[in-house]
Amino acid sequence: MLIEVQKEPGYEKILYCHDGESGLEAYIAVHSTVLGPSLGGARLWSYKDCTNPKEAARTDVLRLSRGMTHKASMAGLNLGGGKAVLIGDETEWDERKREQIFLAFGDFVDLLGGQYITAEDVGTSSEDMIIIRKGTNYVTGLPTWKGGSGDPSPVTARGVYKGMQACAKEHLGNGHLNGLTVAIQGIGHVGTPLVDLVYNDLAGNVKLILSDLKFDDDKRPEMVEMYKRKYNATIVPSKEIYQQECDIFSPCALGAILNDTTIPQLQCRIVAGSANNQLADDTRHDVMLKERGILYAPDFVINAGGLINVMDEREAGGYNRERVLNRILNLKNTLRAIFQLSRVKHAPMSRVADELAEDIFNGKRSNGVV
Ligand code: NAD
Repeated sequence: MLIEVQKEPGYEKILYCHDGESGLEAYIAVHSTVLGPSLGGARLWSYKDCTNPKEAARTDVLRLSRGMTHKASMAGLNLGGGKAVLIGDETEWDERKREQIFLAFGDFVDLLGGQYITAEDVGTSSEDMIIIRKGTNYVTGLPTWKGGSGDPSPVTARGVYKGMQACAKEHLGNGHLNGLTVAIQGIGHVGTPLVDLVYNDLAGNVKLILSDLKFDDDKRPEMVEMYKRKYNATIVPSKEIYQQECDIFSPCALGAILNDTTIPQLQCRIVAGSANNQLADDTRHDVMLKERGILYAPDFVINAGGLINVMDEREAGGYNRERVLNRILNLKNTLRAIFQLSRVKHAPMSRVADELAEDIFNGKRSNGVV
């Protein structure tokens, strides 16, 4: 096992981990432990399209771990921010290789002695967490049948829905979504329960417009039919989702989808979705949305439900769903505080949220905003 400790201004610790036996190659970044141990998922990605995969993985782990500090601060959690990125192409692995990789990764996580707690992320699952658990206690997000918190996505969806209500109150004058049109991009782990929640909570008194790459070109006709029948939804090709006239646009697929090309196309009044890093350029695109009169719910605030859920597994007495759902309600108050400050400062939402998060983890403000 090889560990290279690297330095990066503003970060507590960056580890490059390599295990010759399993072939594991990974970065673990601890951005901050000021508020508590750093918690963040382990992403598995091949970076095979990048000129320098190792450098691309390092850039990713830095950006993602810093984002986790912001997310935890704004959610009022006693947690810092960390993240791991495993470089590899899982399509080339058999079950045994996968097990070896995650066993080795667990050993590296353990060496940090609790400074970093890992969890599932893109490319990893709660089943992988069971393997990691063999080598370390510093892992969360285990399946429910193992006493864990299970898939965090329905909780994330609930947080997004509560966030949409806060946005509607701020920008449209009513705190519910009755009679509104909601366009959701990405009907995956979060988008699927979100559709259900929005539709059922409003007893069908909402117009849903949905898009997903998997619906394009008639690839999943039975699924498309189900959404039309069960939720009276309109399904549009994924490229056309930005131009849909709607009250709320909810990005629940990939990052960087709010950019120079898409923002001018938007026909919505609010952007509120789960996707991480929605703004292609944090500074410029935040301003562009404000100038177009679109209220943007900062992604790392509105999508904190997943983090709240996995973190709860480590509370004394174990996972408590009721406590999680109560904490989710608080996301609404946090968003309200951001909206208010944005009004006072005439500043765009993401900048306000970033500044608040930095004040919290730099000790200038108590943990949590409200
Ligand atoms: P997922 O992979 O299960 O679902 C994403 C869906 O988006 C897929 O169905 C995919 O086909 C679709 N998609 C991809 N590109 C698209 C495009 N251009 N247009 C339309 N559809 C597209 O992922 P998820 O777990 O549902 O997460 C969605 C987003 O929310 C991600 O950005 C994730 O990082 C973020 N997030 C998720 C959680 C969670 O609890 N799962 C928590 C916080 C943030």
